[in-house]
Amino acid sequence: MLNSEFNITFCRGICYNGPSEFYFFYTIMQPIAQTMRKQVFVLKYVKEHPWHIIEDGYHPEDNRLFESLMSLGNGHMGHRGNFEEDYSGDSLQGSYAAGVYYPDKTRVGWWKNGYPEYFAKVLNGTNVIGIHVEIDGETVDLGKTEPINFTRILNMKNGCLDRTFTYKTNNKTFDFKIKRFVSYDNVEIGAISYEIKSHDKAIIKFMPYLDGNVHNEDANYDEFFWENCSSSCDKSVAGISMKTKKTGFTVNASMKSKLVLSNNAGDTPEVFATPTEITQEDKYVEHVFESEVLPGTSITLHKFFSLVTDRDHLLENLETYCNNQVDYAFSEGFVTLFAAHAGKWADIWKEADIEISGDVGAQQGIRFNIFHMKQTYNGEDPRLNIGPKGFTGEKYGGSTYWDTEAYCLPFYLSTSHAEIPRNLLVYRHNHLEKAIENAAKLGLKGALYPMVTMNGEECHNEWEITFEEIHRNAAIAYGIFNYIRYTGDSDYLAEYGLDVLLNISRFWADRVNYNPYKDCYMMLGVTGPNEYENNVNNNWYTNLMASWTLEYTLESLKYVQESDPSRAEAILSKYDFKSEELSEWEVIIKKIYLPEIEELDVFAQQDGYMDKEQILVSELDPSNLPLNQKWSWDKILRSCFIKQADVLQGIFFLSERYDLDTKRRNFDFYEPRTVHESSLSPCVYSIIAGEIGYHDKAYELYQRSARLDLDNYNNDTDDGLHITSMAGTWMSVVYGFGGFSTTEGKPKFSPFLPKNWNALNFHMLFRDRLLVVHINNNEVKIQLESGEALTIEIYGKDYSLSTSAPVISKIRN
Ligand code: BGC
Repeated sequence: MLNSEFNITFCRGICYNGPSEFYFFYTIMQPIAQTMRKQVFVLKYVKEHPWHIIEDGYHPEDNRLFESLMSLGNGHMGHRGNFEEDYSGDSLQGSYAAGVYYPDKTRVGWWKNGYPEYFAKVLNGTNVIGIHVEIDGETVDLGKTEPINFTRILNMKNGCLDRTFTYKTNNKTFDFKIKRFVSYDNVEIGAISYEIKSHDKAIIKFMPYLDGNVHNEDANYDEFFWENCSSSCDKSVAGISMKTKKTGFTVNASMKSKLVLSNNAGDTPEVFATPTEITQEDKYVEHVFESEVLPGTSITLHKFFSLVTDRDHLLENLETYCNNQVDYAFSEGFVTLFAAHAGKWADIWKEADIEISGDVGAQQGIRFNIFHMKQTYNGEDPRLNIGPKGFTGEKYGGSTYWDTEAYCLPFYLSTSHAEIPRNLLVYRHNHLEKAIENAAKLGLKGALYPMVTMNGEECHNEWEITFEEIHRNAAIAYGIFNYIRYTGDSDYLAEYGLDVLLNISRFWADRVNYNPYKDCYMMLGVTGPNEYENNVNNNWYTNLMASWTLEYTLESLKYVQESDPSRAEAILSKYDFKSEELSEWEVIIKKIYLPEIEELDVFAQQDGYMDKEQILVSELDPSNLPLNQKWSWDKILRSCFIKQADVLQGIFFLSERYDLDTKRRNFDFYEPRTVHESSLSPCVYSIIAGEIGYHDKAYELYQRSARLDLDNYNNDTDDGLHITSMAGTWMSVVYGFGGFSTTEGKPKFSPFLPKNWNALNFHMLFRDRLLVVHINNNEVKIQLESGEALTIEIYGKDYSLSTSAPVISKIRN
């Protein structure tokens, strides 16, 4: 008889070694898992630890996976967790600067009118972390000489990457200790401390370099995306300037290093700040530092680098500015810079941490998600957004999907100050004119925001997504609603929100068509969030959210007409809105068609959904999964299987409209048909499962989401992390287990604690206040750490909360 303990032991035993075992595991264990209704996706690539992501031992076969997991970023730049020294094994070298992209020429088999010309690629740029290392004239390369006692550790508490190992060459032994960070305090600089402790006498040579010979692995035509490269190098500072083809972004990198030689304990270390040699080529610069080391002594190279772009600084000043930045870093020194950086992370955790006691895997999972979200987007620049891979890989060109408003916005609302989520909204406001052009290109009125974008232009070119996955427009409207509901910043409407809402609504009103036989408005030929159905009629979610947008727009217009009539007038006249057009919207709202499956009393995902053969995921032979790797596209489209939350996404967004029975019926019908092959799916289902009392299921789905990358659940973490779904994981803790919601300026909580947790504490910012919610098996305790007193609700009952005393209520599990 299997029990969960056995499952876990078994998983550890067979799954450590990576993807091939994963499939074996998946095939053998999934039916058992389904029978037992237990979550057994326990793939241990990394060692569990509350604050660290640990690669314990050397795993070259999974190097790309670890490089993704151990990526560092600060909102401005980021790098995969590559080794600094040469590595001849399998690796994806990745260095990225936020907002720097290349419009790679579209590659399609059959061109369709309306396709965008390009697919924006996040650009892999100058390698700033590289250091060639030689010992007695031999290159250190872990691909050729296996290290001993290897660990690579991402420390999420202070945002740094540590590596230690012992290296033996020519019967000599060396202990390596390497630490790297990109500063959260000054986002244009980063530093590496590369220490080698020698057990033997040897000559050690460090060659820190900057290398602009970098290609995107996913280039459509194998093209090199950079031009006009120039370099400069003297015995102090070396730099490279690279300009992107077509988009013309200039990115400058500079470096400066010093060598610290520690002799016997107590002696003052010797410091060498001048390289012995330099190399300068057009895309490559190098400094050479060399010294003899004696047994028991250590030698450390401190490499400082800066990365700046003409997105932020005048081109003519760029080189000087870049060199000044690296001079600053050099003069501050590694320890001081690191302390300032770590201080910023301490501030972040103070406001955003989630503590889980009794389940280290879950604790590690949630911190991993928060950490990478904060590394990807710091909210300071409204021209930037949240790419699905952040700074961790190249896949998914473009930076902005509907993921931002639908999934990421709630995270930034609760873990940052209001100007940060506001910047995410302003980003869309700034792209309004392009969205209007985009709709016109498709022969439609109003604004259609792109499915994927860098600068407001569409850069996705699969017809079923570009032309049909128009529900993304509703997420942008919903983002405005959600932001105002959370922050109370209704002024946003007059300033930026209303023109966006009006133009999105105009699009919806044009995109629906009146059906005189049924006397209702329909929406034909769409793709809903479930991308395993294309060109369907009347996707319930899309129709629902379109009519909701019309309602919310009319409400918002009324608000601005009352609060700022001249502004309302100016917006209406700028876009030529007449009262007849607005009255037509009222009719559409009343007569929108929302399909139902009457005999089951659930919403129909789309017309004809019940014509499909109805099979449950649990009835499938597990060898069919994941469908997107095992089935033809045609077979997927004809099946009833659902990629990700679709009807449930609508129920989640407009939660107050539906009672618990309705939610339960729809969950019971759709969840067993959902394969969750988008990382965005399990979190939404998890939140609704929690609300309708399916606590075990909520936890199972949470685990799937929280450790998606850590356990490489979709077998694609090598390409980079699933950044946007990480925000969904955060939602499944705060909105799911914490039962958080808000209306009328009141935070509300209906928490429950998963069975195997002893306690859950989460921090959240709410309207200039910092709240800490403590949940354990006996009680819910909510503290106001800072800010003015407010009314909160726990399980439907109001309490007033001030900094002087917490509010405590009994837990209802
Ligand atoms: C999902 C989309 C999502 C995209 C980027 C796709 O797999 O189906 O909903 O926007 O990934 O995360």
